[in-house]
Amino acid sequence: MHASTHGAIGIAIITATYIITKSEKKTFIIGGILAFASHYVLDFIGEFPYRTIQEMLFIEFAVYLWSLVLMYFLGIKYLKFSVFGFFMANLMDYIDKKMYLSIFLPKEYPFTYYFHSKNQVLIPISYQKTIIAAIVSVILIGICFLILRNNKMRLKS
Ligand SMILES: [Zn+2]
Repeated sequence: MHASTHGAIGIAIITATYIITKSEKKTFIIGGILAFASHYVLDFIGEFPYRTIQEMLFIEFAVYLWSLVLMYFLGIKYLKFSVFGFFMANLMDYIDKKMYLSIFLPKEYPFTYYFHSKNQVLIPISYQKTIIAAIVSVILIGICFLILRNNKMRLKS
C-alpha cells in the first residue's frame, strides 16, 4: 500500500490504543510497536502505481496534510500522536526505500529487504482500488479525529 494508507492505519492504531489505555506513554510504546508491525501485514496488499509523479505527490501530501490540520485543531498532544502513528506505520519503507530515494534514484539508493520480502504482495489491487484506498484513508483519519474529539470532550465534562 502507499504511504497514505499505511499512515491512516497507523493513526487508527494510535487512536485505538489511546482510547483503550488512556495513557500517553502506553500509546507511544504499545501503539508505536503495533503501528510499526502493521506495515508488514498491510504490504500483503499491493498498490497500483500512480499515473504521474504529480498525482502521487498531490494525493500523498493531501492525505498527510489532512491529518495534520485535523489533529492540530484538537491540540498538540493529538498532533504528536498522529505524526508519530503515521511515521511508525511507514518506518519500514523509510528504511528499505531509503526515505523513498529508491523510487527516484534506484541505482544510487537500492531497495533493501530488511523489513520486506520479495513477492510479499498476496492481493494485488487495481488503480481504481488504489485511489479508493486513498479516499478510505481520508475517511479513516476523519473518524479518528471524531473519536478523539468526543473522548476529549468527555474527559473535560
Ligand atoms: Zn512497505
